[in-house]
Amino acid sequence: MKSLGSIRRDFAPWNDPNAKPYIQFDNVTKKFGDFTAVNNLSLTIFEREFFALLGASGCGKSTLLRMLAGFEEPTAGRILLDGQDLRGIPPYHRPVNMMFQSYALFPHMTVENNIAFGLKQDGMPKPEIAARVAEMLKLVKLEQFAKRKPHQLSGGQRQRVALARSVAKRPKVLLLDEPLGALDKKLREETQFELMDLQQKLGLTFVVVTHDQEEAMTMADRIAILDKGEVMQVATPPEVYEAPASRFVAHFVGNVNMFEGKVAERTAQTTRIAGATGAQIVVENAGDAAAGADIVFAIRPEKIRISSRKPADAVNALEGEVYDIAYLGDMTVYHVRLDDGQMVRASTMNAARVTEDPLSWNDRAWVSFRSDAGVVLTR
Ligand code: ATP
Repeated sequence: MKSLGSIRRDFAPWNDPNAKPYIQFDNVTKKFGDFTAVNNLSLTIFEREFFALLGASGCGKSTLLRMLAGFEEPTAGRILLDGQDLRGIPPYHRPVNMMFQSYALFPHMTVENNIAFGLKQDGMPKPEIAARVAEMLKLVKLEQFAKRKPHQLSGGQRQRVALARSVAKRPKVLLLDEPLGALDKKLREETQFELMDLQQKLGLTFVVVTHDQEEAMTMADRIAILDKGEVMQVATPPEVYEAPASRFVAHFVGNVNMFEGKVAERTAQTTRIAGATGAQIVVENAGDAAAGADIVFAIRPEKIRISSRKPADAVNALEGEVYDIAYLGDMTVYHVRLDDGQMVRASTMNAARVTEDPLSWNDRAWVSFRSDAGVVLTR
């Protein structure tokens, strides 16, 4: 069987200039009184995509979802689905369904009746309902729980009922607002994979809202990072992490070290950065940063090597003192105070049981990294 990863790797319609977007937010603005919750935002989502809207509380992600579902209308701009302008179309006539948290299940109804509810409302013939419910129960692996009530299920099982209920009507697009918010960490992780699997099996387009970056990174084909009603970047998880477009994105996703500085010299191969606090850094790719420009050099902690001696081959090596060590089991995080005062975070995987180069608090240490290990940000 092909793993999910190998299936998804081939899926990248956003790179195909001929691919038609399925959902389009076209200069959408949403105001509540004087307050602008969504500000002239444009975004495209492709059919069968697992798309995540990621942002801090209040950035407007739920508002975007609610406009797509039809619970709110944009103040300005258009939302198109498969080329059709959705304005004025009521929620129940849109090929879109919203999955609500598991506590929105009907407590007095059995699992199968919960799943059948929407189908009955639509007047689907009884034998068809029975067949569809059976199919859904199988899909979420709850066949033997059909007759139970929600309170007789675990949190994860309830979540699966909520999911089955929301996909029973075969919407083209499923909207999920913090779908795993009520689950504990372990169950969340399991359910993330179940969601991805289900989305693949059904061939649906998923738009999920989350404030949890790990969740977005795990599940989504692409992530839109939002701030104050605007899109900061739309990209695949590896791009968001390895090539953040701005300081905001670099900070928002994962841990990062930032060196403020200026582009001191550009040649065809390398760029030299003069750090504001004195560090000299050589990078391979400085993007469009011109000589003399104020920039930030951003580098992830796991791309930095820490050692007690200066590595002979290092292009970039900075000296300092071990300020703090956090042993996390699978990895160790070091905070090193460079001699120029800047604090640097470096993490090492504990692949072996004994570290080769044991460093302790207040030891002199070198942090080193390759010239292609970080990114130069101009925004
Ligand atoms: P959270 O993660 O906290 O749910 P969010 O990114 O989903 O946040 P939204 O619910 O989209 O945020 O809200 C965006 C902003 O719009 C918030 O500042 C919120 O207070 C405001 N807002 C949302 N709905 C309304 C409303 N009906 N009337 C007035 N202001 C609203």
